[in-house]
Amino acid sequence: MNKQFNVGIYLRLSREDDDYKEESSSITNQRNYILNYLKNNNNLNFVDEYIDDGFSGGDFDRPAFKRMLIDIEYKKIDCVIVKDQSRLGRNDLVPYYIRQFFPLKKVRFIAINSDIDTFDENKIGNKMIGFYSIMNTHYCIDISEKVKSTLNTKKKEGKHLGGTACYGYKKDPNNKYKLIIDEKAAKVVKMIFNLFVNGNSLQMIARHLDDLKIPIPSIYKNLNRGMKSTMYGHWQTRTIDEILKNEMYIGNMCQGKRKRIAVNIKHLIRNPKNKWIIVKNTHEPIIDKEIFDMVQSIYSKNSHITKNTNKYLLKGFIFCKECSHTIGINTVKNKGYLVCNYYRKYSKLHACTPHRMKYDYLESIVLNKIKQQIKNCNQNELIYILKRNNKIELKIEEIIKENKKLEIQIKDFNRKNKEIYNDKLNKIISKKIYLEMKNQITKEKIENEKKLKENFDNIKKLKTTNINYEKIVDDFMYLKNINRKIISYLIDKIIIDENLNIEIFYKFKL
Ligand SMILES: [Zn+2]
Repeated sequence: MNKQFNVGIYLRLSREDDDYKEESSSITNQRNYILNYLKNNNNLNFVDEYIDDGFSGGDFDRPAFKRMLIDIEYKKIDCVIVKDQSRLGRNDLVPYYIRQFFPLKKVRFIAINSDIDTFDENKIGNKMIGFYSIMNTHYCIDISEKVKSTLNTKKKEGKHLGGTACYGYKKDPNNKYKLIIDEKAAKVVKMIFNLFVNGNSLQMIARHLDDLKIPIPSIYKNLNRGMKSTMYGHWQTRTIDEILKNEMYIGNMCQGKRKRIAVNIKHLIRNPKNKWIIVKNTHEPIIDKEIFDMVQSIYSKNSHITKNTNKYLLKGFIFCKECSHTIGINTVKNKGYLVCNYYRKYSKLHACTPHRMKYDYLESIVLNKIKQQIKNCNQNELIYILKRNNKIELKIEEIIKENKKLEIQIKDFNRKNKEIYNDKLNKIISKKIYLEMKNQITKEKIENEKKLKENFDNIKKLKTTNINYEKIVDDFMYLKNINRKIISYLIDKIIIDENLNIEIFYKFKL
């Protein structure tokens, strides 16, 4: 290949990566690695580097990446090199960039460690782009779970971590983890509690607030952000219900009320109450505890049990072709039936059609189709590639190497000890010098032994956090232990039309 290429090297490090203090993924390391590669390929000419330091691979909203796209547009570069595919990104758009965008712009893409080179058909990594993408997304999920757990620690300390404070409060400008009362909204909260304990129904309270032209919380929030609005919105009984039950108003920090139904799906669902993180007395209350308790006791009398709606594997993935709203699942006598949510809500307006279908039927069809899709993968090849890219394995290998060195050194200390002892006997060295040397050797030996033990402990720790790639691949290949998480790696969405044709959109191409 004699064609000369103008190379842009793309370097990315996210905060999450940094948390792991992975030396091998530092920016300097990535740069050296790629520059070294350029040295060995004299048709690759360095033109510019693009560094996104502190940006997650979860999206492409990164300044240096955007600058690179502009340089591609202006033909300043016609070759993009990264250390491995995950540096480019960890989301579903990665295959799009590699397979469509770059080729369209006649840009060569090389991910050295992933064995990808779009101008070299022999690279086995080229076939794995889609699968890498799934795995990298999976890794992103893995990390996001780890980040979540540190966030949870902060939540358990009663620190407020939400983007915005709940209605009635605002963030303390002097302490981003603290809430202070927003007097204007707090007045409305007090009014709602008062109206309720005075016998008003949720509906009556809502109409009352509408009459007073009090902006609903979401509009109020935007007004506070400086957005102009002439609307007040209509108060919903659900909003009032949420306010009346919210322990935040008696000074307790409640977090973790909602969670994502699956990774990469922005839709939030409620977390069961026993999963909430509640810390008492973290901020000034708006409502007296007596009044709050009274409201709760009124509630407990007419509470209705909400059913567990999470038992359907595909819930949230199904959409209506005609109106593009979600298709919901109704449970009738323990059996699930699909129905277009838009139709259900506005059937009187003849909006959309039922799209009615047995849920079980859909699930069996979808699972079968996925099976057919991934049947053609080679399991061993996948495991091999995953393992080769497994940073933990590499780290363990590194430590084992270091341990071997340490063990040799420790043996050497024993030999040295004997030597100086003989030297002392033969009066080659004085007793004083002997003791000094012995002390020094012993000190070094103890340090080495300490390091050795630490290393062994580290290996143990690393092995427990090790990802079971065989199992992940196995789960993919045979759809074992299939759960919503696995589904979310595989499927983007399922679209059903009014003739009940099923169309599955995958997150991968094989
Ligand atoms: Zn519909």
